[in-house]
Amino acid sequence: MSKPNFAPLKLFITGPTYIRQDVKEAALLPEFGHRDTENDLRFAPIRENMRKLAGCGDDYEPILCLGSGSTAMEASVRSLVADGETVLNVSVGAFGDLYYNLAAHNGKKAENLKFDYGQAIDMNVLEDKIKELKPAVVTFTHNETSTGVTNDMKAVCELIRKHGAMPLVDGVSIYGGADLDLSNSGAAMYSTATQKALGLPAGFGIGFVSKEAEEKAAKVTNKGHHHDITKHLGRARKNQTLTTPNCTLANQMWFQLDRIVNEEGVENRFARHIEMRGMVEDWAAGLDGFEMFAPEGFRSPTVSTVLCPAGVTVAQLKKGVKEALREEGYLMDPGYGKLNTALEEAGRRLVIRVGHMGDITPDMLTEYLGKLEVELKKLG
Ligand SMILES: *Cc1c(COP(=O)(O)O)cnc(C)c1O
Repeated sequence: MSKPNFAPLKLFITGPTYIRQDVKEAALLPEFGHRDTENDLRFAPIRENMRKLAGCGDDYEPILCLGSGSTAMEASVRSLVADGETVLNVSVGAFGDLYYNLAAHNGKKAENLKFDYGQAIDMNVLEDKIKELKPAVVTFTHNETSTGVTNDMKAVCELIRKHGAMPLVDGVSIYGGADLDLSNSGAAMYSTATQKALGLPAGFGIGFVSKEAEEKAAKVTNKGHHHDITKHLGRARKNQTLTTPNCTLANQMWFQLDRIVNEEGVENRFARHIEMRGMVEDWAAGLDGFEMFAPEGFRSPTVSTVLCPAGVTVAQLKKGVKEALREEGYLMDPGYGKLNTALEEAGRRLVIRVGHMGDITPDMLTEYLGKLEVELKKLG
C-alpha cells in the first residue's frame, strides 16, 4: 500500500475549517447502529447542545440531514414554499445567490433581490421589494461568507414578518461562532452545517425548525423525501436521523458539542471570535494600502475580508501569495473566486478573506497574519 503525501496544512479558509486533534481523535469512538439504543447516546446530547449553542429551547427542533448546508437550505425551500407562492431571495453575495438558485431550480416562483458586494441588506430597498412582490417566503444570508458581511438577523426577520412573510435564514458560516439568540430571532427555519464555525468535518446539513414552519410544511406538496422537513422532524423527535447518518461524524459532533458547551463555554467561544475580528481590523489598519472591506457594524465574527491596494491581481493572490503560504504550511484564502473575478473585470480592488472560524485561536491567527503580511508586502 502506498503512503499518502498529503500536506498537513493549517486551514485559514472559510470552510472546511481547521479541526482540533481531539476532535479528529473522536472519530475513533465506536461505530453504532442508527436505530439502536446506542444512537440515543450520541444524538440526545448532540441535540440538546445544539440548542444551547443556538440560544433556543424546544421552540426549535434541530434536524440533521446527511449532506451539507445546501441540503438543509434546499429542504427549507422545498418544504416551505407552496405552489403558486412567491419566494424572495435576498442576496448580498454568492451565498444569497445560492439560496435563489436552490429555489429556482426546484421550480419555485423565485425572485432575486441583489445588493452590491460588501453591502449589508438595505432595509428600505427590501421593504419596497416586499411591498411590490408580496412574497409568502423571504430567504436571506445571516453571514455572507463571500464578502464577510453579517446581516442583522433580528431586524431583517422583523421587517419580513411585518409584511406577513416567512423568513428563512442561511446561517451556514456563523452557527457556532456567534450568539444567534435564535429564540428571539424571528427565523422560521435556520439552516447551517458542520464544517464551518462548528469546527467539524462536513457531512450534516443542520436545520432549526420552528413550530410555525412545521405546520406550514404539512400543507406544502411535492417536498420530495430527503428534502421533506416533516419526515426529518418525525425522526428527530426520537433523536434519530431520517437516513443513515455518518456515524463517524456523529461521534465527533457528540464530542465537539460537549467540549464547546461544557468545557470551552459558549460565551467564551463567541468572545474569542469577536476578539479575532478585532485582531484582523487592527492588522489591516496597520498595513499600507489595505483596509477592511465589510462596513463597520456589519463585519463578520467568523470571516474577515480585506481590500487590497489597487493594481493587485487575481493571479498575484492565487499563484503568488497563496502558494508562498502553502510552503509555510498554511492554506490561504485569496478571496471568493467569482467575486474577485467580477471585481477585477470591473477594475475594482480585490478582496482577500481571513477565515477565523471554528477552533482557530488568537495565537494561531497572530502567527498566520504575520506570515500573510510578509507575502502581501511583496506585492508591488
Ligand atoms: C458554505 C456556505 C454555504 C454552502 O454550504 P455547503 O455546506 O457547502 O453546502 C451556504 N451558505 C453559506 C453562507 C456558506 O458559507
